[in-house]
Amino acid sequence: MINVTKSYLPNINKYKKYVEQIYKSNTLTNNGPLTKELTIKLQEFLDVKNLLLVSNGTLALQIAYKVMGLSNSVITTPFSFIASVSSLVWENLNPKFVDINREDFNISITELEENIIKHNPSAIVPVHVFGNSCRIKEIDEIAKKHNIKVIYDASHTFGVKYQNEPILKFGDVSTISFHATKLFHTAEGGALVIKDDDKFEEAKQMINFGYETGVINKLGINAKMNEFSAALGLCVLDDMNLIYERRKEIWSNYYRKLRDSFDFQKRTPGSTNNYSYFPVLFKNEKDLLKAQGALNKKNIYPRRYFHPSLDTLDFIKHSQICKASRDIASRILCLPIFFDLQKNDQEIIIDTLLKSHFVLL
Ligand SMILES: *Cc1c(COP(=O)(O)O)cnc(C)c1O
Repeated sequence: MINVTKSYLPNINKYKKYVEQIYKSNTLTNNGPLTKELTIKLQEFLDVKNLLLVSNGTLALQIAYKVMGLSNSVITTPFSFIASVSSLVWENLNPKFVDINREDFNISITELEENIIKHNPSAIVPVHVFGNSCRIKEIDEIAKKHNIKVIYDASHTFGVKYQNEPILKFGDVSTISFHATKLFHTAEGGALVIKDDDKFEEAKQMINFGYETGVINKLGINAKMNEFSAALGLCVLDDMNLIYERRKEIWSNYYRKLRDSFDFQKRTPGSTNNYSYFPVLFKNEKDLLKAQGALNKKNIYPRRYFHPSLDTLDFIKHSQICKASRDIASRILCLPIFFDLQKNDQEIIIDTLLKSHFVLL
């Protein structure tokens, strides 16, 4: 069986060495030595400062909302993983959807400003979907003009650069997920990169019940990363360049062989690619279902990321219908892409897709 993704597992002996360290130090969590080491190494690798490791990417978003003092309405997009909007609802914030651009699948710049005027939000939470950067320059200009915060959900963008700068440097906060299915992972985990030094210190206390050197200083929650996750992260990080090269090969092979028959997400000018996803855009949902069926018959399971469009969920109160998001969500399929996807398996996937496509024509 081949799934859309498969978690990367580093060398087990390397991991065991770290576990032995954990046994020796008897420190299992609470910003232990491995969490500290991973923080330093990630800051170096990603060329950022003020990186705070947490227990998952959803809590990273929730901490970001809290530390930046978000209230009332917040603008985001419906073409994303559920956590980017459910985290807002969970924090009693009021999500207002702005539709996406059909080219890059990210928040539509042309519709952003009118929605800011209409909803008077405290912040925007744009998502860099499939590792493709939002139009950051435009978003930041609009946010500045209206004096509202920007929190980027950068869950998909490990290692991506925008205009030669690390993407996590942008916004008041950028958050990232290190879930097992993501490009870089710690089994469960995530991080915030916070621009303001004081807010960074505040967030550090927040993720540990509001404690500051043993004194309860403020309202907090538990969002700490544990040492076993940090150990896994240290092992995966060592192999990152290898993972990246292999994925680039797979991505490029898909693209070369499918480019004449299908449509794709267009990359935002200035955004690099981290090859974390390979989404294919079909002409319509019928074609997608047919291709998906043909692949399933061969025990291959691509995923309909992101389907359904989040503006169709009835537990999220909002008034907008986002046509572009619904349209893209109905005909997008993410193909299997992971470190050890075998070459002949990839050729079967490509072949099946092309056959299903040409039978339809
Ligand atoms: C994965 C993901 C999250 C949530 O991260 P977890 O670590 O699974 O909690 C949030 N937003 C987006 C866009 C994601 O893909």
